[in-house]
Amino acid sequence: METKKYIELQECFSSYLSKKGLRRTEERFAILECICDLKGHFDVYVLHRKMEEANYHVSRATVYNTIEVLVECGLVVRHQFPVSSQQYELRAYAETHSHLICMQCGAVRELKNEALQKSIVSMQIPRFTSVYHALYIYGLCQKCSRLQAGKKSKNINE
Ligand SMILES: [Zn+2]
Ligand SMILES: [Zn+2]
Repeated sequence: METKKYIELQECFSSYLSKKGLRRTEERFAILECICDLKGHFDVYVLHRKMEEANYHVSRATVYNTIEVLVECGLVVRHQFPVSSQQYELRAYAETHSHLICMQCGAVRELKNEALQKSIVSMQIPRFTSVYHALYIYGLCQKCSRLQAGKKSKNINE
């Protein structure tokens, strides 16, 4: 991530914390920095492990609370994926792609389509001020649609 962009996110987080009367602790900013370096989907466990690897010791509860504050201030997206652990993503990354979700196995793939993203951002919505978006397209992944096609032809033969 560009330093300029990172500083912008940091400032946004900082002003949100003071507005809400929350403490601007070193830990909270270290967590944001780690999220900026992750470039992808993550859950609390992955993020906590990354912090440990970087020799930054914070409790998992602190990691979780900080993510939730980042979601509230709109810097992090809380995803709606049908997987066991709650997935998050930095909003700045989430807005660069759509998410293809398999309804059968729950696999999530990213689809980059610049024209689509641009048209969402430039869309004028009456009586609504959009802030950010996350896009999900549900269907079947290649593996599952092959499996299903196989099952169908087996049923026909029976
Ligand atoms: Zn994503
Ligand atoms: Zn699938």
